[in-house]
Amino acid sequence: MPKIFRIPMMGHMIVVLSKGISNHDREMIRIYLKDRGFQVREQSLGEDAIIGASGKGVVDLHELGLLPGIERVAATSKPYELVSRETHGEDTIVRVGAGNGVSVQIGGSRITVIAGPCAVESREQIRETAARVRESGAVMLRGGAYKPRTSPYAFQGLGMEGLEYMKEAGEEQGMPIVTEVVSPELALQMKDLTDMFQIGARNMQNFELLKKVGSLGKPVLLKRGPSATIEEWLLSAEYLLASGTKDVVLCERGIRTFETYTRNTLDISAIPVVKELSHLPVIVDPSHAVGIRAKVSSAALAAIAAGADGLTVEVHPRPDDALSDGPQSLYPEQFERLMRDIEALSPVVGKELLRTPRPEHIRLHNALAGNAEASSRDLNRADLPVAFSGESGAFAEQALLRAFGEETPRLGLDGFKAVFDAVLDGSAAFGMVPVENSLAGSVHENYDLFLRYPDIAMAGELKLRIVHCLIGDEKADIEGVGIIRSHPQGFAQCRDFLDKHPGWILEPWNNTAAAAASIAREGAVKVAAIAGEAAARAHGLKVLKQGIETNPLNYTRFVIISRKIGDKAALPPSLGSGPLNKASMVFSVSDEPGSLFACLRILSERGINLSKLESRPIQGKPWEYLFYADVSIPEAEQDFDRAVEELKTKTRDFHFLGRYRASR
Ligand code: PEP
Ligand code: MN
Repeated sequence: MPKIFRIPMMGHMIVVLSKGISNHDREMIRIYLKDRGFQVREQSLGEDAIIGASGKGVVDLHELGLLPGIERVAATSKPYELVSRETHGEDTIVRVGAGNGVSVQIGGSRITVIAGPCAVESREQIRETAARVRESGAVMLRGGAYKPRTSPYAFQGLGMEGLEYMKEAGEEQGMPIVTEVVSPELALQMKDLTDMFQIGARNMQNFELLKKVGSLGKPVLLKRGPSATIEEWLLSAEYLLASGTKDVVLCERGIRTFETYTRNTLDISAIPVVKELSHLPVIVDPSHAVGIRAKVSSAALAAIAAGADGLTVEVHPRPDDALSDGPQSLYPEQFERLMRDIEALSPVVGKELLRTPRPEHIRLHNALAGNAEASSRDLNRADLPVAFSGESGAFAEQALLRAFGEETPRLGLDGFKAVFDAVLDGSAAFGMVPVENSLAGSVHENYDLFLRYPDIAMAGELKLRIVHCLIGDEKADIEGVGIIRSHPQGFAQCRDFLDKHPGWILEPWNNTAAAAASIAREGAVKVAAIAGEAAARAHGLKVLKQGIETNPLNYTRFVIISRKIGDKAALPPSLGSGPLNKASMVFSVSDEPGSLFACLRILSERGINLSKLESRPIQGKPWEYLFYADVSIPEAEQDFDRAVEELKTKTRDFHFLGRYRASR
């Protein structure tokens, strides 16, 4: 059904064509628009074939929408159309690189961090930097081979030789690379060596360069010019899209103001502004924005807090010796610290730091999968879904998207046991289940399931901030609501808000997303649900009030579950980076003095940190207790393995739930 705008309009619009449109209908649409004074062009925008129309024409959008072969018509009042959110409502997710099997996503629910030196200085320097930033969690490598420098006497870069070194370093670490292109001729030469082109700030309005680079079909990182307005910046992005590429990432890198203390002034407000005006991802370069090493990390964190989809950061192993931009380049240790802070901050803004598997982890994953029989073969099938309990829009589904990415097929099931069953019987590759809430404590049902399913292990963890919303029908308003549906946890976590409305009747539901779904089904205006914003989106409902949880520090810890292969769990490829440094176990001890102490001593003597210890009554055995323990795995893994062997001898019932990478 075509979406119809009944107003006559002038300006820019796009006509999204139906999938199977005939050549005749296509031609009729072109003629129709040309006759009314528009210039028309055909191209693709994301998955859609579109006709873009601009000029001083006047058209009745209602009439236009009725022509055969039209899926949708969208008009924009802005001077740009392809980059405008008015013509393309959904966030664009840009994928970079797939050589080597590693592809990195920019945009969506992830935070993507690109790091590397300002310039490639030597083969050793770029390889060393790549290894260091990769170790800290960067997923893409940056570096200039052609440097547009303010002074003609400053180091100009190693050129194609530098690019070859960078490509090698990127492949070694499994990181796609991004490098600046300074002329249309070079763009052609560089095309097969780089995964993404960077258009530098000084070249943002080099329109011939934009047209050439846009036509090559590679992703492009477009820096904002030091004196460019947001509109000029978006028009430059429009050049790139209009030339053929779909994959453009915008990069705020500081603008020139009267302030001279910092190199430039980071325009933080540009981030939310551009995210509203455009569907393209926005990242921030804090290094060129502030130009002072000690201030880079603060600016980087501010950018993430303001909604940036990622960062590009200059890092040098020895900044004092750097041939360019040493004073703003982070030491690798500072970058490591910054990455830890970003990881802690991401859940607060509802995102997850993107991690990609390192080449050695891909080999390990494949080797593990290759050793076992049928079960593991399934795990390599990318089309197998990840299971969660609940309906579309559930918090578990949010966790799943963060861990596995937007394109992963998902299987919403009825209850946690169904998730364990699906992973065990191979109908799902992995499952995502909550184990602990920062306010409400452990989810015992899932701990019980781990004990009942010894072939299922914990393979990863993820912390999700839980923001509750009051959600209702499009026509509902908060004054007219009388009944509230949610999971009892939803009620408990929004106690203060509910206390302000003593007249409301509370109806408990199985899960928050199901409560939202019921309202959509019934079209009820007097009923509202307490659930996440994603549930409102998934079921076409309206958020009546956002952030109604009593305590905003409300996090749920989810774990990824997988089937064991031999005695190891299959690792989720997307979280396979970094050492497996955390483990979970459940045990009970004999009812005699010092029995728990003996267990703790084993950990203490081997320097193993205990991050959680919780006791819980064993059902059917009054006054006997199970202990849930989470521990860190020290670098010397043998110490950990020995501790586990000893624990088995000191405990009654010992269940090892899995080893995985700790989320910060
Ligand atoms: C760079 O990223 O190395 C660079 C030169 O940035 P900008 O174009 O933003 O100055
Ligand atoms: Mn630089």
